Amino acid sequence: MAKPAAALVLLVLLAVGCGPVEATTLRPLDGETVHVVATVGMVGDAVQRVGGERVAVETLMGPGIDPHVYKASEGDLRRLERADVVFYVGLHLEARMAEVFERIGGARTTRAVGEAVPEADRLAPPDFAGNYDPHIWFDVELWRHAVTAIRDTLAERDPGSASLYRRNAAAYLDELDELDAYVQRRASEIPRERRVLITAHDAFNYFGRAYGFDVRGLQGISTAAEAGAGDVQELASFIAERRIPALFVESSVSPRAIEAVREAVRARGFDVRRGGELFADAMGEAGTPEGTYVGMVRHNIDVIVEGLGR
Ligand SMILES: [Zn+2]
Repeated sequence: MAKPAAALVLLVLLAVGCGPVEATTLRPLDGETVHVVATVGMVGDAVQRVGGERVAVETLMGPGIDPHVYKASEGDLRRLERADVVFYVGLHLEARMAEVFERIGGARTTRAVGEAVPEADRLAPPDFAGNYDPHIWFDVELWRHAVTAIRDTLAERDPGSASLYRRNAAAYLDELDELDAYVQRRASEIPRERRVLITAHDAFNYFGRAYGFDVRGLQGISTAAEAGAGDVQELASFIAERRIPALFVESSVSPRAIEAVREAVRARGFDVRRGGELFADAMGEAGTPEGTYVGMVRHNIDVIVEGLGR
């Protein structure tokens, strides 16, 4: 339930947004700080890297926050209304904010960076109701598309600083190439038949495709639907049969369901370790290495190799 005040703000937005809002030609920003709102940390981090000192970035969803079920608060709506540019992943990641993005779009630039990934490169899982899998950030090469979309959007909105955005983006993209090579190198330390990644929800399909892991999530692509008892038993049988050494919890999903799987595996006479915590849909705390996109990806592959490699 939205709080009354939030509902009121939303109503105002709805009223303003009645009928198709003509995409107004937005005044290019000139010399002023560009106010950006990003939904998830991965997007906010990329905007900060590309925008540098020209941008002031506010990220709505902090550590441990699950974007699949997140609803904009009253404060979020105010931030979104004040923003010059709003970046989000899209592809139904922020499923409960879709309407808000649509309503605010006319008066400011909004960009779903996930939609910069070519359709041919997107995964369309059969059990996700005709939608694409939004977790594109775990294939580092795919995430480059998001970074270039941010670069181009900022350059268009703030043409006076276009060369700065291009320079910053080029440096960040180089860093992402190094990161991709690091993940490839670490993944190759695990024999192919042991590269099975079991997590709380299906956030790692792009990761699996890019780095050669079989991926099984207890919950589906979205965390909105709870895993049923049947899902737990099925996954437990799979783990016991394949003798998978470890499964992993995620920072943005309750570990309860994963513990139920461990119990069910034990009932089958096999013990699966609880590997470390992975950052799936949210980064770690600001000021820690995992509080950046690069740090979170490095953390994940290190934890996975540690968990499966022994
Ligand atoms: Zn997710």
